[in-house]
Amino acid sequence: MKYQPIIGMEVHIELRTKTKMFCACPGFHFGTKPNTQTCPVCLGLPGALPVPNAQAVEWTQFLGTAFGCTLAKFSRFDRKNYFYPDLPKGYQISQYEYPLATYGSWTNGEGKKIGIRRIHLEEDTGKLSHTTINGERVTLVDFNRSGVPLAELVTEPDFSSSAEAKEFVQALQQIVRYLEISDADMEKGSMRLEANISVRVGQTTNDIRQKLPDYRVEVKNINSFRFLESAINYEIERQSEALERGEKLVQETRGYNEVKGITFSQRQKEEAHDYRYFPEPDIPSFEFSDEILKEIKSKLPELPESKRKRFETEYKISPSYSKILTETRELADFFEEAIKVGSVHGISPAKLANTLVNKKPNISKMLPAELIKLIKNAEEKGQISDEELEKVSLQSIEENSDVVESYKNGKESVLQFLVGQVMRKTKGRADPTKTAELLKKLLS
Ligand SMILES: [Zn+2]
Repeated sequence: MKYQPIIGMEVHIELRTKTKMFCACPGFHFGTKPNTQTCPVCLGLPGALPVPNAQAVEWTQFLGTAFGCTLAKFSRFDRKNYFYPDLPKGYQISQYEYPLATYGSWTNGEGKKIGIRRIHLEEDTGKLSHTTINGERVTLVDFNRSGVPLAELVTEPDFSSSAEAKEFVQALQQIVRYLEISDADMEKGSMRLEANISVRVGQTTNDIRQKLPDYRVEVKNINSFRFLESAINYEIERQSEALERGEKLVQETRGYNEVKGITFSQRQKEEAHDYRYFPEPDIPSFEFSDEILKEIKSKLPELPESKRKRFETEYKISPSYSKILTETRELADFFEEAIKVGSVHGISPAKLANTLVNKKPNISKMLPAELIKLIKNAEEKGQISDEELEKVSLQSIEENSDVVESYKNGKESVLQFLVGQVMRKTKGRADPTKTAELLKKLLS
């Protein structure tokens, strides 16, 4: 490929804390009646003082730990100044110089390492909706989302294809859900993707950070994994073609039109100094001792990858099954709980894995013990021999000569009665379909 893509990701994750980032308003806002969950703090009224949500701080540190980041011993909030109607204060409380976590990494399925530059905490803005009222185009603003905690993760520009970027954000979503810090639902906007894309001619070194192009295009408003892939592919092509024509590419922010599958220019990108960041004077900075950071790290649950490997070695499950069984924490926990119950009843982990992967029982509607019971019953059912089934079937035919008579006279529906008799005699261990077939054969 003549032009080599250089891609970095920025992902916003809305944390599902009970209350907002700096006030006591409810954090959950999806589908709530507009502007019913606000107070002077999240409306940015004069004189209101923010109080940081300790849970949100800790959860951001969890996320940092999950990606092997260094957790900051000193951290603070800064004001990011800009004007927009969804931001009543005229600034967003964010983190600039001293984020909570820095310099982590993630390794993809092919062993390629992706750098995580930083993870910081900030507050969400209000939500604008553009609509028509009485034939007039209007923009409405809902402040229920204003002040909801947002963790922002920024990667190094280490991805070289849309597929790599997609693999990363899917893994990120899974990790966030394992940590139970957000539902990371892209349709609801609790996980939002931005891709920074540039291309350059060829390369002589493997370290793509050595010579980055002097521009990058930030594509915003991507709300699905599929759109992420197509938006990146579109940009790579657009930029390569522009360079091919000898054009100079500029730093800019572009939106993604999912209907047309194209990106479009929104504004020339602002530089950090445009935001005139300065330390948030209303919130004291944080200092974390080694003990506190150690304690935070110790609270982290087991993450998907280590669970996957453990299932393979501990339960002798194939890698493909292990991957499926660890897709969600619920399924993985269900599997392990069922193993405990199953061991008492002689149901092996392999048998359980097989059932969960292939039969896909609705685990949200049953307990592990109930699944074991089902497997046990099915096993017992399966133990009825063909000879026994035939013996019981013949017996049922003999005992119900009148029914047999009407069957032979063309009333085929009575066959179900005989199937019922066999089921009763075998205490449900016979397979109804197999029994019906056998009875038909015996009666023909
Ligand atoms: Zn509030």
